[in-house]
Amino acid sequence: MQRFDIPFNKPYIAGKELYYIAQAVMVDEHLSGDGPFTKRCHEWLERHLKCKKGLLTHSGTAALEMAAILCDIQPGDEVIMPSFTFVSTANAFVLRGATPVFVDIRPDSLNIDEKQISSAITSRTRAIVPVHYAGMSCDMDEILDIAHPHRLWVIEDAAQALFSTYKDRFLGTIGHLGCLSFHETKNIISGEGGALLVNDERFIQRSEIIREKGTNRSQFFRGQVDKYTWVDVGSSYLPSELVGAFLFAQLEQAERIIAARNRIFQQYYQQLKPLQDQGTIRLPLVADDCACNGHMFYIITRSLKERTLLIQALKNENILAVFHYVPLHSAPAGQKYGRQVGDMRVTNEISDCVLRLPLYYEMTDADVARVVRVIRQFYHV
Ligand SMILES: *Cc1c(COP(=O)(O)O)cnc(C)c1O
Repeated sequence: MQRFDIPFNKPYIAGKELYYIAQAVMVDEHLSGDGPFTKRCHEWLERHLKCKKGLLTHSGTAALEMAAILCDIQPGDEVIMPSFTFVSTANAFVLRGATPVFVDIRPDSLNIDEKQISSAITSRTRAIVPVHYAGMSCDMDEILDIAHPHRLWVIEDAAQALFSTYKDRFLGTIGHLGCLSFHETKNIISGEGGALLVNDERFIQRSEIIREKGTNRSQFFRGQVDKYTWVDVGSSYLPSELVGAFLFAQLEQAERIIAARNRIFQQYYQQLKPLQDQGTIRLPLVADDCACNGHMFYIITRSLKERTLLIQALKNENILAVFHYVPLHSAPAGQKYGRQVGDMRVTNEISDCVLRLPLYYEMTDADVARVVRVIRQFYHV
């Protein structure tokens, strides 16, 4: 395997991860879930993001699965979402027997096109899942306005969006439920990991039960019930305390990590802007009422062929740039379990032309300049 001078991603260790794990093991002697570090993470999420309840899960995928159970998604129900997203957005609902209904994205933000949501609503629709791609917010006011009269749940897939905002509110805290990921490719990491943000009080009690195998264990430990028993469906969605300890060390440094990523994002933006101005490539759009968390820097090329050649040009200089997603409406499982509304023109085009550039905490100014230099040489500017 080729080793890159500038890899696509490099997990960043904030400093105290192993120290906190040692503390969990040797001082707290608590290794299963919901120990002192997991509780600190919950408090951190609730205080910093201002959500009613934050619950760690073992992945962002698990948080989405919990959301699907909480919204009582049943076989035959429909859930509206973009096709340009990670598979878990859809899978969580397919596991409940529901049909993902795919809608096209906007060419500027690459987020679900809110203007096309209404035409996807039927009597079977139960929820809308806005995905905040690259940590940039969907048009949440518009989406909530569409959802409200139809009494649809709004579940934010904020896996990439920790600490991004929309009109001064943190993403993941605006819909009824929000899902975060701490996978090692995200900004704040615990290897695998995630969190469910509960913003609607009606879900709080049941969210704890579903996460604890369908038992009332959390209430039992608070002394609210005198027996600990099976009361609902559920699974084991809580992470081990080792994961909570690792994550807490990251959360403590979240502002610094996100500021550093935003700085790299800005450098890419400034240095590549001349190419956008002359109409060669397109750059991400940060809307006025949003603040972004520097999760991802992408460019949009003019064709699949151009993107393929540019990836190779970067590879020749030992730089790894990657693309995603195979649109879900065109994937084998998407065709089997889902349905599309509209022609998916933008989704198809973007999946051919989007290119993600390296972005990680330890990237230096010189690294960014080197990536930009190769891109400018490629376009002869
Ligand atoms: C990363 C990601 C997920 C899944 O998170 P995991 O923690 O890897 O399970 C879901 N949706 C989107 C949009 C993601 O980027």
